[in-house]
Amino acid sequence: MKRIYLDYAATTPVHTEVFRAMEPYFTKYFGNASTIYYYGRESKKAIEEAREAFARLLGADQSEVIFTSGGTESDNHAIKGVAYANKNKGNHIITSKLEHHAVLETCHFLEKEGFKVTYLPVGADGLLNLEDLKSAITDKTILISIMAANNEIGVLQPVAEIGEIAREKKILFHTDAVQMFGSLPVDVEKMNIDLLSVSAHKIYGPKGIGGLFIRKGTKIVSYMHGGEQEKRRRAGTENVAGIVGFGKACEIAARDMEKEIKRISRLRDLFISDLLKKIPEVKLNGSLVKRLPNNVNVSVKYIEGESMILNLDMEGICASSGSACTSGSLEPSHVLRALGLSHELSHGSVRFTLGKYTTKEDMDAVLLKFSEIVDRLRKLSPLYKSEKKGECNCDGTCGG
Ligand SMILES: *Cc1c(COP(=O)(O)O)cnc(C)c1O
Repeated sequence: MKRIYLDYAATTPVHTEVFRAMEPYFTKYFGNASTIYYYGRESKKAIEEAREAFARLLGADQSEVIFTSGGTESDNHAIKGVAYANKNKGNHIITSKLEHHAVLETCHFLEKEGFKVTYLPVGADGLLNLEDLKSAITDKTILISIMAANNEIGVLQPVAEIGEIAREKKILFHTDAVQMFGSLPVDVEKMNIDLLSVSAHKIYGPKGIGGLFIRKGTKIVSYMHGGEQEKRRRAGTENVAGIVGFGKACEIAARDMEKEIKRISRLRDLFISDLLKKIPEVKLNGSLVKRLPNNVNVSVKYIEGESMILNLDMEGICASSGSACTSGSLEPSHVLRALGLSHELSHGSVRFTLGKYTTKEDMDAVLLKFSEIVDRLRKLSPLYKSEKKGECNCDGTCGG
């Protein structure tokens, strides 16, 4: 069966160039980067080249970026690290209701440790209101953590404006840029960002490696204690092959970004407009304009997201309902609830996220299959039948 992968927000396949760049670092160049002989020097050199590629894609200095095990660790490090290092200044953190669990659960943990956290609401389009942010700030606020782009609905927050507010009030600003990094330009200077989290496996790199930008002079507690790796911020022998893969993925992202933004957003826009035309009673979740180039998230009335995903899977189409972390649980997505969606609509969501290998043919095939599936499931839905009673003019076969 031909499979169509439309879950690039969950993870991406490793790019062949990335894989090829990594290979020698498992076998030929296996040295511990902390050693001073040939093998160690080769590893060290490769790590520093990757660091340069990563820093360049952020507009940061090489001395300001460290490698971590991924987005989750970077979020934990940034938020806990800043909280513990600055607790003599204050104990208040501001974040949003839309954040990834890596941020939300870290904040929940810190609440148990005595910190106070404000979870800002968002509008129906998923966008934060800057006035809400300003009025949440107190003289005890030490950190603002707002994601650059949401993983479920793709909404882009006004990061530069948030950064400006934080800078003016002398509050540190962290952003989870896992979804934005590599797909849209990010500049830590222009955006007034102090800390920024990224992950390699969302940008065609390997899993288990990521990065954290920490602006020079930021007060932060180290995450791992031990050896002197990563300027003593993150001890432990470096994952050299992973770091090399991450660096290569950054280079490729920088090289292809402009043309991929155009190509993918065109496919997305066409798919959204065709979908809304073809299937009645479908709602696009999140702002249409302030949106990642590759994200389509819709709620389909009368049916469950889970059953749409299972039916799509039977046709070889991989999509997701909410985020990968919440699918499988019966709780509706916290992101969709934050938009104020009804219980029914937040249960009826499907996320399609496009990527490097998505073609027009794929999207046409998905549209066709998806509308058949929706049709079929609606005919089986008791909700649909009861609502449509009386409207139906068929011969009775619809059951209405
Ligand atoms: C995937 C993701 C993470 C977690 O990154 P991992 O490398 O998988 O730990 C964090 N935040 C966002 C927005 C994500 O999409």
